[in-house]
Amino acid sequence: MSPSTYRGRFAPSPTGPLHFGSLLAAFGSWLMARQARGRWLVRIEDIDPPREVPCAADEQLRTLQRFGLVSDEPVLRQSERGALYREALDHLLERGDAFECHCSRSDLVAGGGVHRACMAGRRRPDPAIRLRVPDGTVIGFTDRVQGAIEQDVAREVGDFVLRRADGPWAYQLAVVVDDAAQGVTEVVRGADLLDSTARQIFLQRRLGLPSPGYAHLPLVVDAQGHKLSKSSAALPVDDDDPLPALRAAWTALGQLPSAWPSGDTLAETLEAAVRAFDPGRIPSSSATTLAALHNAC
Ligand code: GLU
Repeated sequence: MSPSTYRGRFAPSPTGPLHFGSLLAAFGSWLMARQARGRWLVRIEDIDPPREVPCAADEQLRTLQRFGLVSDEPVLRQSERGALYREALDHLLERGDAFECHCSRSDLVAGGGVHRACMAGRRRPDPAIRLRVPDGTVIGFTDRVQGAIEQDVAREVGDFVLRRADGPWAYQLAVVVDDAAQGVTEVVRGADLLDSTARQIFLQRRLGLPSPGYAHLPLVVDAQGHKLSKSSAALPVDDDDPLPALRAAWTALGQLPSAWPSGDTLAETLEAAVRAFDPGRIPSSSATTLAALHNAC
């Protein structure tokens, strides 16, 4: 990857203040982009209003700024990009790659939770739209952290939703359209999204879009092994004192604590961190506990 063409991104959903797990994804993607002398973009993924918290997006952006992590281009909000998603969906519908699905939740449960064919005997006024995933759709890719990954999307996932019956655009469609529209070349994010990647690559192929490279960072879990966002330990990071959290994120990214630079200012520290960062040290395992991180600080 030549330095000038690298385009990375951080794409939080505004479901609350940034916690340590999101900071890890933000800092990891920022370090990778900066080290490649590329660009780093922030995109707000606000397409699921019931899950969103008022003002959370602005608060997340403010926190990122306090941590010195600032988007190189204007921040995009998915809630304003419905026309692009509509265009992609129409393309798939016209080609017969997407279809209206009238199945209810209980129809899907009867089918083992994986949609292979519509089982509903009735039509609903507001059908979901799904992507057709033919038998034998096996997608493989090499993740820069997790290594070789392969998924039989037809068997393990089935036909997946692009627009939900209650209206919202599905994450899979919006993320694929936006990563391509923004020219993202490297997706660096938490390993909780590893399982979505084969679906996204398949959808990119259906839409005739290029696939970016992928790197899935280790998750931070609490002492009970719960992912941070689902845990009571998901406390917001402290805006007023960014360095301890950045240093803990550095360690969670597998970097030597002794390599953490101590600059006079936040900007100097970040600049030196970019130089010292070794992506080859990022661990694939997601067993970093919050307690271990605190001990490391
Ligand atoms: N918006 C997603 C989240 O906050 C992340 C999407 C992505 O990085 O692909 O979990």
